[in-house]
Amino acid sequence: MTQTAPAASVTETFTVTNPATGAEVGTFPIHTAADIAERAAAGRIAQEWWAALTFGERKRRINRWIAAIGQRSDEICDLGFAETGRPRGDVQFELIAGLEDLRWAAAHAERVLKERRVAPGMALFNFSARVSYPPLGVVGVIAPWNVPIYTVLCGIAYALAAGNAAIVKPSEYAAASSVLVIEAFETANPDAPKGLISWVTGFAATGNALCTAGLDKIAFTGSVPTGRKVMAACAENLTPVLLELGGKDVTIVAEDADVEKAATAVVWGGFFNGGQACVGIERVYVTQAVREPFLAKIKEIASQVTTGLGDEDAYGPMIVPAQIDVVRRHVTAAIDAGAIALVGGVDSIRAPFVDPVVLVDVPEDNAAVQEETFGPVIVINTVADVEEAILKANATKFGLGSSVFSAKRGREIAGRLKAGGTTINSVLTFVGMPSVPFGGIGDSGFGRFHGDDGLREFAAPKATTHKKFQMGPDMQSFPRRPDDFEQVRKMVKFRYAKRRGV
Ligand code: NAD
Repeated sequence: MTQTAPAASVTETFTVTNPATGAEVGTFPIHTAADIAERAAAGRIAQEWWAALTFGERKRRINRWIAAIGQRSDEICDLGFAETGRPRGDVQFELIAGLEDLRWAAAHAERVLKERRVAPGMALFNFSARVSYPPLGVVGVIAPWNVPIYTVLCGIAYALAAGNAAIVKPSEYAAASSVLVIEAFETANPDAPKGLISWVTGFAATGNALCTAGLDKIAFTGSVPTGRKVMAACAENLTPVLLELGGKDVTIVAEDADVEKAATAVVWGGFFNGGQACVGIERVYVTQAVREPFLAKIKEIASQVTTGLGDEDAYGPMIVPAQIDVVRRHVTAAIDAGAIALVGGVDSIRAPFVDPVVLVDVPEDNAAVQEETFGPVIVINTVADVEEAILKANATKFGLGSSVFSAKRGREIAGRLKAGGTTINSVLTFVGMPSVPFGGIGDSGFGRFHGDDGLREFAAPKATTHKKFQMGPDMQSFPRRPDDFEQVRKMVKFRYAKRRGV
């Protein structure tokens, strides 16, 4: 596959290969600032057309796009498998999640973003007031390689449904499936002006050029170090940013947890996608009372997890070689510090594959506890009780996802976890639910995809106030008269000097 999207100045290309076999999947242009300027100009014209449509008209076109992607889903999943080596089932899973985002955003945009009347307040009751949510304009979407289709679709869905155009830069490691998915929009909607959704490919320089192109927002999903660079680059034009960054997600297993269900879920949540998931479970705090049965179950279940390129394998290779070094560093650091390797160990690393590793009793200040591993490594530490578990769970700079297993205290514990989302008696489900906001706090970033908040993220709330009649003295005119101030003074006493609601 060689992609030759319209480009002003493309001279160089790069090739996406399968991380396990090295087989070539596609060749893509390295786009420059000039290419981005060209797309931004087309995007601005297309966006005006798009914003002038009704919510219903936009919804119909997004639904046509969903159908076009659905019709080519086998091809997309094959391409996703070819470029990442992930099981086709996992690629299907992320495709479904992305399509659900598109469907939800299109279905709910009118409810969330249509103009509404609000109360003008007592002091200005001679006015009527409205709040509207006009789109921002052209939004840049920058995506990572770990769930490339999902992060691209999620990035576009809320922006598009809110009336924006988008320029998307997929990861240089996994551009093929994303490009196919993006191009399906134009095929499904021949009436849409070219450039409503466009793509650019390349490395850091292309991403940086998108950040400095004067777009109306950058929605970035990726690592913390790159997130910092994106924010700094966006500062040049005061371009607003949404940052969906890394995590060190935690699970708490309370004394009253169903230990078998917790172990099953933790193994899946930690090893799904080979741990290359921002919301993958990397830390577990198990209460002393259930430590032994929990560890026994984890060992039993995790030992059956297989790695390879077969459809029956739980997960495939590490997609990016540099990530294997991080895994090796963390596993080595933990074992050197006295941790027990309950499942696997340093020998589990047989690049490009890494078999499951479960480390127990790792010192809290160890890199394996503090840094994002982004590989199939779970750290399980024991705590005296739930109080200690919450304290340690929150002692991190990250705050993306979290989960808790408890028969009776789930909501109480969830409420005390500092994270963008918490799942009770299951894991990760908040990510696959478009109706709830998704995003992080701390080093995990800020801003939200998903839900009402995700749609408002791509709008510029606007106030319109309308004077209906004159009431009392006109305080918005000169000259000011002493009588007017006397009336205002009385009003202040009447409204504020009485103790109300105390
Ligand atoms: P990355 O930060 O290396 O790259 C992400 C994207 O940014 C790529 O498209 C890359 O080309 C681009 N980029 C690189 N340098 C840039 C620059 N200077 N300016 C602009 N763009 C630039 O991340 P990755 O390795 O592709 O992805 C893994 C990371 O993503 C992990 O940390 C993971 O936790 C995170 N992630 C977060 C979420 C979330 O929703 N919070 C989801 C998936 C992945």
